[in-house]
Amino acid sequence: MKKVFIETYGCQMNQSDSEIVGSIVQKDGYELTTDLLEADIVFVNTCSIRENAEQRVNNRLVRFGHLKRKKPWLKIGVLGCMAERMKDDLFLEHKSVDIVVGPDAYRDIPRLLEEVESGIKVANVLLSEEETYSEIIPVRLGTNGVSAFISIMRGCENFCSYCVVPYTRGKERSRDYRTILDEAKDLFDKGYREITLLGQNVNSYLWKEGEDVNFAKLMEMVAKISPLLRVRFSTSHPKDISEELIKVIAKYDNICKYIHLPMQSGSSNMLKKMNRKYTREDYIQKIEMINKHIPNCALSTDIITGFCGETIEDHKETLSMMDLVGYDYAFMFNYSQRPNTIAEKKFVDDIPQEEKSRRLDEIIEKQRELSFESNKRDIGKEYEVLIEGESKRDKNELFGRSSQNKVVIFNKGELKIGGYINVRIKDCTSGTLIGEVIN
Ligand code: SF4
Repeated sequence: MKKVFIETYGCQMNQSDSEIVGSIVQKDGYELTTDLLEADIVFVNTCSIRENAEQRVNNRLVRFGHLKRKKPWLKIGVLGCMAERMKDDLFLEHKSVDIVVGPDAYRDIPRLLEEVESGIKVANVLLSEEETYSEIIPVRLGTNGVSAFISIMRGCENFCSYCVVPYTRGKERSRDYRTILDEAKDLFDKGYREITLLGQNVNSYLWKEGEDVNFAKLMEMVAKISPLLRVRFSTSHPKDISEELIKVIAKYDNICKYIHLPMQSGSSNMLKKMNRKYTREDYIQKIEMINKHIPNCALSTDIITGFCGETIEDHKETLSMMDLVGYDYAFMFNYSQRPNTIAEKKFVDDIPQEEKSRRLDEIIEKQRELSFESNKRDIGKEYEVLIEGESKRDKNELFGRSSQNKVVIFNKGELKIGGYINVRIKDCTSGTLIGEVIN
C-alpha cells in the first residue's frame, strides 16, 4: 500500500483541508504516514497570504527535491493557495513537483495520482461555486483527541485590497448545516470536547433551505449537542458580526467567551484603502456591543503594519486602538505585497522595510504589555479548563485552555487529558497562566 505524507502550512482552514485530503486518499486505498522518509507521495498544503509563507514552502520543496533524487519514485504534490495562485508555474520553478491541486479540486486527487504514475505532470486548479466537501468526514491529523476543526464554509468575496484569498479560494459558499451537526456529534461521541467552526468569514454563513440557518442559529444548534462540548469559531469579519450572534455566545456556557476580531488597522484611512468596509468608529461600536453582552469575553486581533501610504499618525491610531480595546492576544505582521491583489494594482508599497519593522516592533511590544496586564488581572480568579495535554516544560504538569482561550498550566496529579478541571490562577507570564487545581 502506498504511503502519503501531508505537510500543512498556514491557517486552520489549511489544517482542516489537509484532513479532508487525508480522508480522500485513505478511502482510495492509500495509507497516511507521519514519517516523511517512508512516504511514496508527499503533499504540501500551502499558504500564499504572505511572501515569507511562500518562501518557507519553496525551501521545503527544495528539500523534497533532494529526497526525490534518492527515491526517484517519490511523487511530490502542491495543494492549496500556492497551487491556485501559481498553477503550472510551479512545475517550472520546482522540477521535482509532479502534481498541483487547487483548494476546490481535492476530490480529483485519486485520478491525478493514477495519471502521474505514467510519468507526466498533472494539475487541477479549477475553482468551484458549490464544492464544500460536505459529506466527507475528515481524518484527524496530528490531533490531541480533544480539539478539532470543522470547516463550515469556503471561499471569500470580501476582496480586502491586500488579500490573495478571494483569488485562491474562490466564491463564498456555506456547507449544509446538517452535515456540520453530524460531524460535530460524531466528534463528541469519539471523545472530542472542543470544536472550532472555521471559515474565512463565519459571520456570513448562511444555509438557505426552508427556514434560513445563519451563523448565530448554527452556533446555537452546535452548542446544544452537549454542554460538555466547547464551541469556538474563527474568523469573524468586524463588518458582519451581529448582536444576534453575541447574544447566543452570552447565552450558552459552552460557547467560549473568546472572539477573534481582526482589526488590521486602527486608522479609518487605512481601513478604507484596505477595503475593510468599516471605520475605526464602527469597529469600536462592535467592541462595545461585545463588552455589553459578554463582559468576560477575551478579544484577539490581526494587525498589519506598514500598509501602502501608512503615516505615523495612522500607526499611532493602531497603537491607541490596541490600548482602547486591551486585546488579550494579537497576530501581528508587516504588510507583504501579494501579486494580483487590488493593493498591488492600485497602491505603492512605499513604507521602507526598516520602518515597517520598527512599527511592528512597537506593536509587538505594546501587545506583550497588554497580554501581560490581562494575565495579571486573572491572578486570584477561578477558571474551568479543558485539559489538552502534557506541558512541554515539565512532564509532571498538564496544560489546557480557559473559555477565554488562555493557556493554563497546572499539576498533573491523577488528571486525564480531555477532562474539565477548575483552577485558581496563582501566577502568570505574558503568554501563560499558572494555576492550582481546586477540585
Ligand atoms: S475577509 Fe478579507 S482578509 Fe479575510 S480572507 Fe476575505 S479578503 Fe482576505
